Amino acid sequence: MKILVINCGSSSLKYQLMDMDNERVLAKGLAERIGIEGSVLTHKSEEMESVVIKRDMKNHKVALEILMNALTDEKHGVIKTMDEISAVGHRVVHAGEKFASSVLITEDVMNALKECIDIAPLHNPPNIMGIEACKEILPDVPMVGVFDTAFHQTMPKEAYIYPIPYEYYEKYKIRKYGFHGTSHKYVGLRAASILNKPINDLKIITCHLGNGASITAIKEGISIDTSMGFTPLEGLAMGTRCGSIDPAILTFLMEKEELNSQEINNILNKKSGVLGVSGVSNDFRDIEEAAQKGNKRAQLALDIFNYRVRTTIGSYVAAMNGVDAIVFTAGLGENSATNRKDICDKLQFLGLSIDDDKNNIRGKETIISTEDSKVKVLVIPTDEELMIAKDTEEIVANII
Ligand code: ADP
Repeated sequence: MKILVINCGSSSLKYQLMDMDNERVLAKGLAERIGIEGSVLTHKSEEMESVVIKRDMKNHKVALEILMNALTDEKHGVIKTMDEISAVGHRVVHAGEKFASSVLITEDVMNALKECIDIAPLHNPPNIMGIEACKEILPDVPMVGVFDTAFHQTMPKEAYIYPIPYEYYEKYKIRKYGFHGTSHKYVGLRAASILNKPINDLKIITCHLGNGASITAIKEGISIDTSMGFTPLEGLAMGTRCGSIDPAILTFLMEKEELNSQEINNILNKKSGVLGVSGVSNDFRDIEEAAQKGNKRAQLALDIFNYRVRTTIGSYVAAMNGVDAIVFTAGLGENSATNRKDICDKLQFLGLSIDDDKNNIRGKETIISTEDSKVKVLVIPTDEELMIAKDTEEIVANII
């Protein structure tokens, strides 16, 4: 079965065509600057050089048409006709409290996603646009929605209710939702498989450390707490996001700097995190380089980032009353041996130790803890697209 995985941003569209018989990626690509001048699609099919297609893409539907042409192209295509696509899996950021797992997209599901626009104004509109465009082009192909929030719907109330007047939860559904769920679920399952233990017997802490970063406590296979909250702004310090700070800072700054809500939002989402502290970059590679050259604020940014990762791990050990495995994933988690070492070296009280040689890897599934470490530490490259494709396959298998 061939499944197309789609991930739509406001001006971008990422895709992957997978053959589920052998979990191979047949082709993948990215359309950028949709709706803006200079739109471009970069398409890479298996065993071929990437092709760059520069064409006006006034909306996501046009981008989809161009990518379908690329998939079926005589030269760099990988399928003969679009009929070979059995199903489409869509990444959707926010499903509110409506869905705790992936679902077949129906009219009711679309209405539920539209209801969530209020709490995910940046993310859900492009996701919805992508689904609607796809339905126009492939009207008879079943589509599945895979939600970033779904995996965290198992959190207990004490983890997801904020200590503010309860009426705001009832009125506006203000609560912790959590994000990166597809990634946390994927690496949690992989960790159990690599350790050769049933996930139901494990307490796992998964650290998704990229530009956006979050940590999840997975107890017996389900998420019981996660560091992102009502929005992806809460929790760890990130590339440009502040993570958890005293909420009183907002009103203080708004008054002192005469900022409106949009401006303060912009500062906390786009100008904070390791970029805000270092003043260097939001890319950890640049910050590591600057720190090595003696830039003190770059070093401080790294220290703050690692400190928060470590203390969040510590709090999740408390939440689960123990931990069997810690997993590092995403851009930084998969690639930065120095960050992993710094974080883990100060967790020795857990009986955890890192093997420096094993830790010296990038982007490869590896157990990096020593043989006698009580807590296993793993690097597992995330694969959200594969997880989306697997969920899609499972759901459509019952209907086609
Ligand atoms: P997102 O999907 O949230 O944009 P990614 O998971 O792609 O983020 O991670 C991007 C981040 O990973 C970049 O900011 C970069 O700093 C970091 N990164 C990638 N490779 C390395 C590396 N070799 N060393 C340190 N950091 C890295």
